[in-house]
Amino acid sequence: MGAPTYSVDGFVREFLHELNTNQGVTLSRSSVNDQYLALASTVKNYLMARWLETNRKTQDAKVKTIGYLSAEYLLGSQLNNALLASDLHDIAAEGLRQCGLSLPTLRAQEIEPGLGNGGLGRLAACFIDSLATMNVPCIGYGIRYEYGIFRQTFVDGRQVEQPDTWLALGAPWEFPHPEASVVVNFGGTTERYTDVDGEERCRWNPEWNVLAVPYNYMVPGYLNGRVNTLRLWSAVATKAFDLQIFNAGDYAQAVRAQTFAENISKVLYPEDSTPQGKELRLQQQYFFVAASLRDFINNELEEGFDLHNLSDRIIFQLNDTHPVIAVPELMRILIDEEGFEWEEAWEATRKCFAYTCHTLLPEALEVWSTELLGRLLPRHLELIYQINEHFLREVHETFPGDEIRARRMSLIVEDREQGVRMAHLAAVAATKINGVAALHSQLLRDKVLKDFADLWPDRFTNVTNGVTPRRFVRMANYKFADLLNDTLGSGWVTDLERLRELEPYAEDEDFKARFREVKAWNKRRLTGLLEARDGIALPEGHMLDVMVKRLHEYKRQSLKLLHIVSLYEQVLSGKIAAADVTPRTVLFGAKAAPGYRMAKDTIHLINKVAEVVNNDARLEGRLKVAFPANYNVTLAEKLIPAADLSEQISLAGMEASGTGNMKFALNGALTIGTDDGANVEIRQLVGDEHFFLFGMTEPEVADLGAAGYNPASYYESNENLRDALNLILSGHFSGGNRHLFDSVVLNLINQDRFMALADFQSYVDAQARVEERYADQEAWTRSAILNVARTGYFSSDRSMRDYLQRIWHTTPMI
Ligand SMILES: *Cc1c(COP(=O)(O)O)cnc(C)c1O
Repeated sequence: MGAPTYSVDGFVREFLHELNTNQGVTLSRSSVNDQYLALASTVKNYLMARWLETNRKTQDAKVKTIGYLSAEYLLGSQLNNALLASDLHDIAAEGLRQCGLSLPTLRAQEIEPGLGNGGLGRLAACFIDSLATMNVPCIGYGIRYEYGIFRQTFVDGRQVEQPDTWLALGAPWEFPHPEASVVVNFGGTTERYTDVDGEERCRWNPEWNVLAVPYNYMVPGYLNGRVNTLRLWSAVATKAFDLQIFNAGDYAQAVRAQTFAENISKVLYPEDSTPQGKELRLQQQYFFVAASLRDFINNELEEGFDLHNLSDRIIFQLNDTHPVIAVPELMRILIDEEGFEWEEAWEATRKCFAYTCHTLLPEALEVWSTELLGRLLPRHLELIYQINEHFLREVHETFPGDEIRARRMSLIVEDREQGVRMAHLAAVAATKINGVAALHSQLLRDKVLKDFADLWPDRFTNVTNGVTPRRFVRMANYKFADLLNDTLGSGWVTDLERLRELEPYAEDEDFKARFREVKAWNKRRLTGLLEARDGIALPEGHMLDVMVKRLHEYKRQSLKLLHIVSLYEQVLSGKIAAADVTPRTVLFGAKAAPGYRMAKDTIHLINKVAEVVNNDARLEGRLKVAFPANYNVTLAEKLIPAADLSEQISLAGMEASGTGNMKFALNGALTIGTDDGANVEIRQLVGDEHFFLFGMTEPEVADLGAAGYNPASYYESNENLRDALNLILSGHFSGGNRHLFDSVVLNLINQDRFMALADFQSYVDAQARVEERYADQEAWTRSAILNVARTGYFSSDRSMRDYLQRIWHTTPMI
């Protein structure tokens, strides 16, 4: 390809050149940040020729591209991934050593782009990695938030949010292209008119606009020379916008107008699974999809391309409903700008979209008020009404006279105020609708979108989520990767089903010993990190029991907490001897949405319990609680390889898939989990014997809910549970303040929407099975190895193959 390849010498030359020319410093006067930025440029330069070549080849081949539309990308650190993908890691490490520098020190300088909240954003990042590695043309489209997910700190145990200033020390991985900016319009009115051919047409006369500036990021495939593109949009004021005001003589107002425009890409909304109907959020959504559609049509297609055939060249995957306003936007382009008739516009549009639903929680389904939509996007609201008319006609034809069904299915909901159900709009437009794990897809068909499944059964499919083995095994657990390479060769990195070949090694004493050594090494690495990062001391020889994920009631961190408090209470009251407690450190990591009171109170309570438990000598050091702040991808990469036990304890029927569960299993942790999301598939694959199942099944949850769930009856009848809750209520963890945690505890006893109390005993029993297995380290190691061997299915490469076959109907480039 004529792309450069580096020797160590060549690398050093290039690195010093970047330091001099980009940073303007000599090695001896450079800061660590200078060095990091120069290293990033060196790696970037290396990938550059491959990127340009990829773009040229893809455009020449005129193949179908995947347009991944996602409001979030939780990318994690870029440097290490780029080094790995370009096979530069060892060369860079040696070259830096010769310069008297250390790669780990430079690496620590990077602030990860936290442009997502949790699982949904991390999934998008895994998917674009897999597509590049599989040689599939893909452009990821999203928003370049100036502030990503907040940095979490704890003050007296309470979460305090700090702005994420990830761009402050330089942004070496991005390429801004202001010359390729796109105007995005908002507001105003619509107008009917008759065109020169006498056709009735409609035109949108917007009131204001902003400029969307593309920032390109490289998405390198693993050792395959392909570099796809992630294109994130940043908002700036258009000239026209502030000139108009400026000419009116109000300079200050003109500057304020710039701020107004730039607010659109200013900050990521930190709500996960519970979106707020904020105007700025709708602006963000339309901003990035309008820019993306315009960009694809103008820049990726050749002059004069017939848009009737748009679906030959693009399929837009809607990552949840956040980008679904793209549907009326494409209709608007085709009808208002290209002069299509309704039917041909709809036919072309529908083939270009597929929809991934990520939830089962009713409060997570987006509804935008028609008042807001009409004010911000008047033409789009008209088109949505029209789409709805056509759609309801079809419903009436298939189910004549079924008015109630039609009302349930309508895109428009008449609640306290009229709104548009974005999930229904997505379902009506999409060629395919998928859930993200087998159980979830089943529940979509049977419950959440049942009416749509009745109407169009063939549109529904499942693609179980996955995670990229490059980041979450090869990079995060490189000692284990070395062991795998020694044992299986290195093919597993791009063919994860090959982990199956590990099965016989579950009986191999030598392999088991090496497997345990790796786990112990990962624990030591984590111990060092947490000591330096948080001042947390992890005791040696403990089972490391980890629950890391967003803080949400449905995920039930409070159930884990009740288990801890109950163990502690039983030692205090003499029901069990401290010596009989399995030495265990429970590690939490979780951010709460800043406006989510219950979640924040739960964090406070966990920290207060940790303070008391960790300092009570009566436990003889056998139970510890650690809660490092600011769980993010960088921390996940250190934590997960060190874990023994993975906590996946959501109420059955609530977690769509989970991907944390997959990362843990692939790194040799055993799971204690409910029959929920992808846990179901993990358990089926690893076998019941190697998975600690507990809790009600989804139908049992539904039945209990229908019968009238009364958590207080569990409180009254289960002594250990009652004693644990009473210990919290007594003020034991709050310096005698009896009411500090009423919000959490009384809610559990009186409402407990996610039935933690109902599953408590079953959870405790499963923990006893965990302890029994853990006491037999040979058996535990065997189970851990079999977990790895049998979970290769959860590679996001497999997810991408499923999307290619079931949804996108395209193949990798050769
Ligand atoms: C994988 C991951 C998640 C998703 O975890 P779940 O347990 O599936 O909710 C969230 N945050 C980060 C940083 C992750 O790496």
